[in-house]
Amino acid sequence: MKKGEQFDHYGVKVRLQLNEDQLIQVKKTFVCRRFLYNHLLDKRSKAWGRRNESLNLKKQKEFLKNMKQAFPWLKEVDKFALENAVFDLDRAYQNFFEKRANYPVFKSKHKKQSYKTNQTNNNIVLSADFKQVKLPKLGWVACAGSENVLQRAKKQNHRISSATISEKAGVITCSLLFEKAKTQAAHPKTGQVGIDMGLTYLFIDSNGHKEPNPRYYGKAQKRLAKLQRKLASQQKSSHRYGKTKRKIAKLHVLIANQRKDLHHKLAKRITDDNQVVCVENLHIRGMVKNKRLAKHIQDAAWYQFRRFLTYKAERKGGQVLLVDRWTATSRVCSHCGKKKTLLNLNERKWICAACRTEHDRDINAAANILREGLKQIG
Ligand SMILES: [Zn+2]
Repeated sequence: MKKGEQFDHYGVKVRLQLNEDQLIQVKKTFVCRRFLYNHLLDKRSKAWGRRNESLNLKKQKEFLKNMKQAFPWLKEVDKFALENAVFDLDRAYQNFFEKRANYPVFKSKHKKQSYKTNQTNNNIVLSADFKQVKLPKLGWVACAGSENVLQRAKKQNHRISSATISEKAGVITCSLLFEKAKTQAAHPKTGQVGIDMGLTYLFIDSNGHKEPNPRYYGKAQKRLAKLQRKLASQQKSSHRYGKTKRKIAKLHVLIANQRKDLHHKLAKRITDDNQVVCVENLHIRGMVKNKRLAKHIQDAAWYQFRRFLTYKAERKGGQVLLVDRWTATSRVCSHCGKKKTLLNLNERKWICAACRTEHDRDINAAANILREGLKQIG
């Protein structure tokens, strides 16, 4: 049996406060990981381009051994970080071959940096007060955040299986991956709900609840636009330009975190109250290709929300069902299934000609998502 079938995993993020030596070591690991990944990608691309040959994982691992001999400084960093880089590249290729992702691209030093390390012989340990975490090659590192979740993980004896150290906008964090035995307990509630994600509202559910889009997002957008204008007026490569750029990056992180908090809260509420949650199966891959940034962000947010719903539901013994977004349209009566021939965009309310049910357009769409989803489980 595969390990993943016995365990559920969840990540807990803490902020790291590194001393000077630790910071140097982390940055060195980022560099080595990126170097290895790009080197291997280059080699694989050439092999693929020349001979249509695919280098398998075993060959790549041999290659890692040779690389360590050719570039002895690779031995100075966490060996798991390097091994995982090999795995990551292989997964990127698998995703490409199975049409889930585009062809792998080179890692840039200007983007988010990270490396993953694995648990062996207690090399990743949290201190009793959760104020320090021991990591390979770094030793004890001061950390902060997520104390409540860590407390719960400790109480339930969940084991740390890996740690991912990342840097974004100058902040270094560590995401600890915990594993726990899978539970097969049934969901305590019998509720079923359809969720229609939208733009005017964050979502509308089949019970008639309309969740407003948060206002903080618009506020942050205004601040973002102001900073963007400032950046445009500044001399590139000047000190001030860099400063504005960092401010923009920080604001992006802030917006993402606010959205994440909200998504966690809403997904918790929905999965607490319902055993079955039906959502649209958005065409993520096609959508991400869309060049419009606002839409891109919106899609990523939807995807995140769906991901939170799914794992929270599964943890509680519930389930999330995906519905093809074209089968459940707002034109079908959710009560009797009769399709209305024409529904104008400005018709917010309508009455079904067959069963005389009065519909709110959006709530009806959510009800159809629920109806379609339930067909999957008979
Ligand atoms: Zn009807």
